[in-house]
Amino acid sequence: MLFADDTEASLKAAVALVNSGEEPDTLTDLVQLDAFYDEHGYTGRHDGDAGELEAMRALRPVLRELLTAERDDAAQLVNAHLADAHAVPQLRRHDGLDWHIHAAPNDAPLPRRVLVETAMAMVDLIRADELSRLSVCADDRCEGLVLDLSRNRSRRYCSTTCANRNAVAAYRARGRSRH
Ligand SMILES: [Zn+2]
Ligand SMILES: [Zn+2]
Repeated sequence: MLFADDTEASLKAAVALVNSGEEPDTLTDLVQLDAFYDEHGYTGRHDGDAGELEAMRALRPVLRELLTAERDDAAQLVNAHLADAHAVPQLRRHDGLDWHIHAAPNDAPLPRRVLVETAMAMVDLIRADELSRLSVCADDRCEGLVLDLSRNRSRRYCSTTCANRNAVAAYRARGRSRH
């Protein structure tokens, strides 16, 4: 583990949310919204309605900007988002999870909580000077984000689909060069 559990979980969720906007969009209905909520272990308010879906979709470019910013810019964005949301970091222990930080109340709208959690996770990355853990997919045609929490920093692609497509292309290129 590189960072605290809640930091890593927040980053994974934020990257997944941004990447859901890659074609084909996988956050287009309430079933997909519920699945995102469940998959990333959220607790607290979940309206599960069209307004929440729209706000979560609208959050994607905001998170992309934050997750891909240069370090100094990222620090400014984190400060602005935390101030806008009136974030108050509190240690919580619930549902079998050991002490971790909540910086927005459980009854705040889900999109606001996701943004605050992402900003708090970025606090850790910025302080540790580990923003290189975040990048854009090495596939030329893909804008997906990559979160690399591996020890040897080996992740370059946002998904196995992108990794496989490029492995096949590299294999073909090697084959051609032999003839
Ligand atoms: Zn919690
Ligand atoms: Zn990709």
